[in-house]
Amino acid sequence: MKAYVLEEIGQLAYKDVPTPQLGDDEVLVEVVNAGICGSDIPRIFKTGTYHFPTIPGHEFAGIVRQAATEANKRFIGKNVGVFPLIPCMECEPCQDMAYEMCKSYNYLGSRTDGGFAEYVAVPVWNLIELPSEVSFEDAAMLEPTCVALHAVRQADMMEVRSAAVYGCGTIGMLVLQWLAAMGIENIYAVGTRKEQQELAAGLTTCTFCSCHEKNPVAYIREQTDGAGVDVVFECVGVSESINNAVSLVRAGGQVVFVGNPAGDITFDKQIYWKILRQQVAIYGTWNSSFTKEREDDWHMAVRAIRTGIIRPSAQITQRFSFDRLHDGLQVMQDKGVFTNKVMVGRELS
Ligand SMILES: [Zn+2]
Ligand SMILES: [Zn+2]
Repeated sequence: MKAYVLEEIGQLAYKDVPTPQLGDDEVLVEVVNAGICGSDIPRIFKTGTYHFPTIPGHEFAGIVRQAATEANKRFIGKNVGVFPLIPCMECEPCQDMAYEMCKSYNYLGSRTDGGFAEYVAVPVWNLIELPSEVSFEDAAMLEPTCVALHAVRQADMMEVRSAAVYGCGTIGMLVLQWLAAMGIENIYAVGTRKEQQELAAGLTTCTFCSCHEKNPVAYIREQTDGAGVDVVFECVGVSESINNAVSLVRAGGQVVFVGNPAGDITFDKQIYWKILRQQVAIYGTWNSSFTKEREDDWHMAVRAIRTGIIRPSAQITQRFSFDRLHDGLQVMQDKGVFTNKVMVGRELS
């Protein structure tokens, strides 16, 4: 089969490799769509995968083509999404079914071969069956969609009437979609580009604030009569945005830290005082819940996509055929080009 193999940092070779051999608990998934994650750029060009050679790509969906055992043959022909984290099933978080916090997990696309290939060996446990109304492009975005949902579910949303999302990348935009789907009346989005504003306007009824044009803290304070919003989702991960996120929240409000840190994070003293004196609740969030139950993030997301409440694929800004993955990676590194989600698609064999 054809695959993109990371042989060393910066060396992603498009080449013929053997189709994966299946373990007993695995099926062979033919990839139809694979999204390029923001994290794939440093993974491919800066930090590398956990070992080499590895096929990257952890956001993908496709069709089951082969099964190793008779019992798993029932999956053949099914359209599937894939939870990329393979938990150890033994550590404390795994015992509590909090697999996203597993202490020694395997991961499709960073620790073991992933979705930038024609075929991937996927444990049956990691599959989520797709209803026919869910497209492969939407399903290939289940992972970031669930990361966003998981972030929203960290906060107590029962009394929330106003929310701000700081940062309008893939996850920030998906958080906006979930907040709109929940019927939050006043949603503010803080971004940097006109194109983000247009995309957000097409998906939600949020008020957009460009931090190049206005001071987002002053603007949102003004819009909320000086009070600030009930909850803020910080989706950037640098000190400035984190300090601003805390500035934006009302007394007694909630802040969810979503963005992965680009470096050390420093709180201004007055911001730290605010957390104490105004009893601001701070939450962290990581990955998504996949317990195989109706209420986990993945099953909720599939239902929301199926009914059209959430439209992840509406965030796709560029599409490339499978043989042009390098062009997709290039476009994501070009700061002049607006991207939200770059999607690679294959014609079925
Ligand atoms: Zn990702
Ligand atoms: Zn574990």
